[in-house]
Amino acid sequence: MCGIFAYSGPRNNAPLLVVEGLKCLEYRGYDSWGVAYQAKGDIKIYKKVGKIGDFKAKDHKFETSSLAIGHSRWATHGGVNRVNAHPHFSENKEIVLVHNGIFENYLDTKKFLEKKGHKFISKTDTEVIAHLIEEHAKTHSFEDSVKMAIKEIEGRYAIVVIKEDENKIIAARKGSPLIIGVGKNEFFIASDIPAFLKYTNKVIYLDDNQICTVENKKISFFDNIKEEEVKKRIIEIEWDIESAEKGEHPHFMIKEIIEQKDTLNRAINQDPKVIEQVAKEIKKAFGTYFIGCGTAGKVALVGEYLFAKISKKHINFAFGSEFPYHRQFLTNKTLLIAVSQSGETADTLEAIEIAKEKGVKIVSIVNVESSTMARISDIVIPLKAGPEKAVASTKATTSQLAILTLLAYACNGGILEGKHLLINAASQINDMINPRYEDHIMKLARKIKNVESMYIIGRGMNYPIALEAAIKLQEVSYIHAEGFAGGELKHGPIALISKDTPVIALVANDDCKNEIISNATEVKARGGYIIGVSPENHEVFDYWIRVPDAGNASPILNIIPIQILAYQLAVLRKNNPDMPRNLAKSVTVK
Ligand code: GLU
Repeated sequence: MCGIFAYSGPRNNAPLLVVEGLKCLEYRGYDSWGVAYQAKGDIKIYKKVGKIGDFKAKDHKFETSSLAIGHSRWATHGGVNRVNAHPHFSENKEIVLVHNGIFENYLDTKKFLEKKGHKFISKTDTEVIAHLIEEHAKTHSFEDSVKMAIKEIEGRYAIVVIKEDENKIIAARKGSPLIIGVGKNEFFIASDIPAFLKYTNKVIYLDDNQICTVENKKISFFDNIKEEEVKKRIIEIEWDIESAEKGEHPHFMIKEIIEQKDTLNRAINQDPKVIEQVAKEIKKAFGTYFIGCGTAGKVALVGEYLFAKISKKHINFAFGSEFPYHRQFLTNKTLLIAVSQSGETADTLEAIEIAKEKGVKIVSIVNVESSTMARISDIVIPLKAGPEKAVASTKATTSQLAILTLLAYACNGGILEGKHLLINAASQINDMINPRYEDHIMKLARKIKNVESMYIIGRGMNYPIALEAAIKLQEVSYIHAEGFAGGELKHGPIALISKDTPVIALVANDDCKNEIISNATEVKARGGYIIGVSPENHEVFDYWIRVPDAGNASPILNIIPIQILAYQLAVLRKNNPDMPRNLAKSVTVK
């Protein structure tokens, strides 16, 4: 979480340039923000609580500067206030630092430094790193002090540091992303590429335990484990700036929902060789795990059902954060398939690291092909969905579902059959993403916008979609929403149903159809208001949202009206769907 952006080069408006860069990263964290820059041999800091997107150039006059670092925070340690916002000074105010991640052992270091006379003004773990670097700098060079300090940090992090009397930026990472944009005599350092895409498409990926120093128009890299200089390659990337911007849409979320018309086709038109190769690995493996967190976790669970039904294969599912408790089952014959949009999810990355230690082969299904996850995997299946910026995942979700469906068919020797099924589903999306369809859902949104709770039920491969639907509604509408397996209702949750409680039933034309309709009927008998998401209408439905009949691709189409409903509820309830409270995209902390 959190966005980092830094600049060094010939331009003399570095602070404002950093603010603009951070605005592109706001989806990563938006409770507070700040910039530090060198001006006339001094370091100046400007910090604010709230969204950086609200800042206008006229709000503050920055001094001329060509070196600046900035941060938009997603608080982990210490409340949301100006003091805890980054950048953080060291004791003597000569060193200043921004940080993404968690310094897990910061309390021990803090106590140690306090004994040496350091005083801390914030409650953050971050401030301790700045002081630790200063402590080393009493006897070592600035660069060596950073190298020494980060060896003492346990946990995942990305940091960027400057010092008052040195015209350089030092950046380091372990487990959290940092990418360098290379311009003409200038460098940008950011948590994600779109932040500097309007200046350059030439990038260098910093790897774990590497340190990068930008000084005098030059950049150098150091491996802090091997303790040696490293050469890094510049890569030209394909993303264009339009795909990272909202265009005429009011929010990224609706833009990304609409984009599913194209993104699904891109996911389906994968290199079939890669799909076949992964299918072969699944057949060969003695035990395959699908893992993911949040929405990607629900997608991974759909995968378990898809494989049971289509390829008659047992797959183990675990959330990334729960996977470590399965470690005793891992051998060098196990296969791990990780699902993620960002490829930077800390819980999933840790699961991969644990699996790698046991010799497990890793496949990742990710959107960001340059991500840590993609780079540490043996095989990568890219989503090709383009940047997804709204916190609530939409287009990445359906692309992940499409790839798992394709894999399930490939495992059964039927990749072409799978492709036809998915192409047919994708071709129906036009019937769902259009103003008439959206108006129909809007009528429902207006009706239920003030409810306290709502429930979603599904069976079989639509059960995890009920869970995902609940996440979508929670994330952006803030209505209490919960998903259940249809058959589980009578074992407890049905007690929550009272008059007019909205219950969405996800119905597909499959072998679960009669049972899920029965479950909806049970709810209706207790006064529930039944919203059917289904290819056909049914008398039990109080409100019907039609979805095309997509066979085994029904999870893909069933989630789309819920995405639209969640978006509309957010807008009606005056929430910002792109930046829901307490959440951030790309969860890089555990
Ligand atoms: N742990 C730091 C803090 O709470 C950094 C959080 C972040 O990644 O934004 O300030």
